Amino acid sequence: MTPVGDQETLTGRAFIGEDFLLRDVAITVEHGRITAIEETAGAGGPWICPCFFNAHTHLADTIALDIPAGGDLASLVAPPDGLKHRILRAAPAADLMSGMRRSIEVMHASGTAGFADFREGGPEGVALLREALKNAPCRGVIFGRDGGERHADGLGIAHYRPGAGIEAAVAEARRQGKRIAIHAAEKDAGDLDAALELQPDLLVHCTHATGGQLRRIADEEIPVAVCPRSNWALGVAASPDHPPIARMLELGCRLLLGTDNVMFVQPDMTAEMAFVSLVYRIPARDVLRMAVAGSALFGEPHDIREGNMAAFVCVDPMRGNLRFSRDPLATFVKRVNASLIERIIYSMP
Ligand SMILES: [Zn+2]
Repeated sequence: MTPVGDQETLTGRAFIGEDFLLRDVAITVEHGRITAIEETAGAGGPWICPCFFNAHTHLADTIALDIPAGGDLASLVAPPDGLKHRILRAAPAADLMSGMRRSIEVMHASGTAGFADFREGGPEGVALLREALKNAPCRGVIFGRDGGERHADGLGIAHYRPGAGIEAAVAEARRQGKRIAIHAAEKDAGDLDAALELQPDLLVHCTHATGGQLRRIADEEIPVAVCPRSNWALGVAASPDHPPIARMLELGCRLLLGTDNVMFVQPDMTAEMAFVSLVYRIPARDVLRMAVAGSALFGEPHDIREGNMAAFVCVDPMRGNLRFSRDPLATFVKRVNASLIERIIYSMP
């Protein structure tokens, strides 16, 4: 993160507004906020893009990075006794925190300025992530569980299970003014109707949501964080039909992009965007919108427009082969990675 001065003007080619229209501009930033955007004659300069927001992570399982493991979704990541949970329980707090810090650094280096994390481990788990976030260059939104939600921004439910007291936990979290997020339809559509009855603020996955369920999600305007690389890594997706991103966009679902478990997938939104673009053949503008949209849902939008906070990634197109791009937005989504980012401008709100 490069701190901006009290006032600074950046010139370059920026993806402006919510449609990311490429314009040659001079952007004035004062005290962390965009106060003016003026078109220029086009002198080149960096590509300026909104910072990403990673809408779904589990940072604590950094400590089990690429652990050799086979098995299905339940044996790997389902609470209470999936492999991941056994490892988390056995890990010293200092190791968990160090892992989370390192992953936050990875996220920042690849252009992410905020994330929403499902934090296991009750109140202690939430406290550890808060500690890891001290002086961090990213804003973290924390969904706790097992009592952790009382100290967090919201309640993060592993998945709907009848008779597990989920309705009561949701009612209590709502009473405390917390947000509700839940994994649903990751392996099949069976748990999604019950999840929808909870009227969550965020659904995670919806990998196998049916057409009817998707229409309801669109009608009720419930945001969905899709995590395609995680779905492939965990064997619950093997085609662009799952998650049904194209259909979701067609129906007008509000989509966000997340990277899910760090143990299987690097929390790098540039890699996630490239994957969605290549495998799901989603237009670059939609992919970038999914990668940025969480910023508005969980705080302030990163869109580049007057009055918004300054949250930009500056990429030098003269590095590597980017100067030959005939479509900078597509090139940005398909090819940018941390090594091409020359500067990240973000002031913590
Ligand atoms: Zn998850």
